[in-house]
Amino acid sequence: MTASTSSTATVQSTSTSRTGKVVLITGASSGIGEATARLLAAAGHRVFLGARRADRLAAVVKEIRAGGGTADHRELDVTCLESVRDFVRAAQESYGRVDVLVNNAGVMPLAMLEALKVDEWNRMIDVNIRGVLHGIAAVLPVMREQGAGHIVNVASVAGHRVDPTAAVYCATKFAVRAISEGLRQESRDLRVTVVSPGFTRTELTGGIGDLGMRAVAEDMMGIAIPATAIGEAIVYAVSQPAEVDVNEIVVRPTAQG
Ligand code: NDP
Repeated sequence: MTASTSSTATVQSTSTSRTGKVVLITGASSGIGEATARLLAAAGHRVFLGARRADRLAAVVKEIRAGGGTADHRELDVTCLESVRDFVRAAQESYGRVDVLVNNAGVMPLAMLEALKVDEWNRMIDVNIRGVLHGIAAVLPVMREQGAGHIVNVASVAGHRVDPTAAVYCATKFAVRAISEGLRQESRDLRVTVVSPGFTRTELTGGIGDLGMRAVAEDMMGIAIPATAIGEAIVYAVSQPAEVDVNEIVVRPTAQG
């Protein structure tokens, strides 16, 4: 589904809280993005959640607000640059600035290359690489204007090593690390962080179309750590003082080889 225009998007009312950083999170409707949003809000930051499943976002926002946190959301498809720009504009309208973007949205339909699942290759490239680039394109002018900002890109252990069935997924995550390193080197006023999770208990394996492959992946997830373990790493990076740029964090289960 592509839902990027302002007519189909959902924006919740502006919060009155004016404390904490303004943190935008893509892929916040489940898993790592959702956990990160909850943890950041609990730490006093103002979070703005994006993903395609707006009903899920609304439910998370409601719970954060019920707990005293500050949160808003907007429907977002990271494969569409205009949708990402609308998302960032909506956050600015709600909170007046953008301190941090967490480029977290991602998909992982694993399969052998010989299966020629070209549509799935393209989807991974569109969400995992183009989505991250769209996020950077949408916030960079805002952050340059502010003279400060922080971009957190969620890569993966798969951005450090290649395994069978994961060639294209790994390629997208290697790309996220390369893009992040280039952005870091080009920036003296922005902080750039790559967070690379290992096996983490989320909905990610649900997107594997090959049922045999999905069963194998879900079996490997037996040792997975909770999404909050990754969220805590992101909170740590975001919470550092302005002159401290945490460049890379790898968090994997102790039992993962
Ligand atoms: P989930 O499937 O739980 O979350 C993925 C999120 O991405 C969802 O919120 C989904 O929301 C969103 N998303 C997917 N496509 C789009 C799109 N086109 N536009 C906007 N949002 C989109 O998995 P995780 O929490 O595990 O994944 C988060 C990140 O962590 C990903 O980048 C993944 O590659 C990475 N990662 C995860 C690991 C793991 O073991 N779980 C390990 C290493 C890295 P919606 O469908 O509502 O749009």
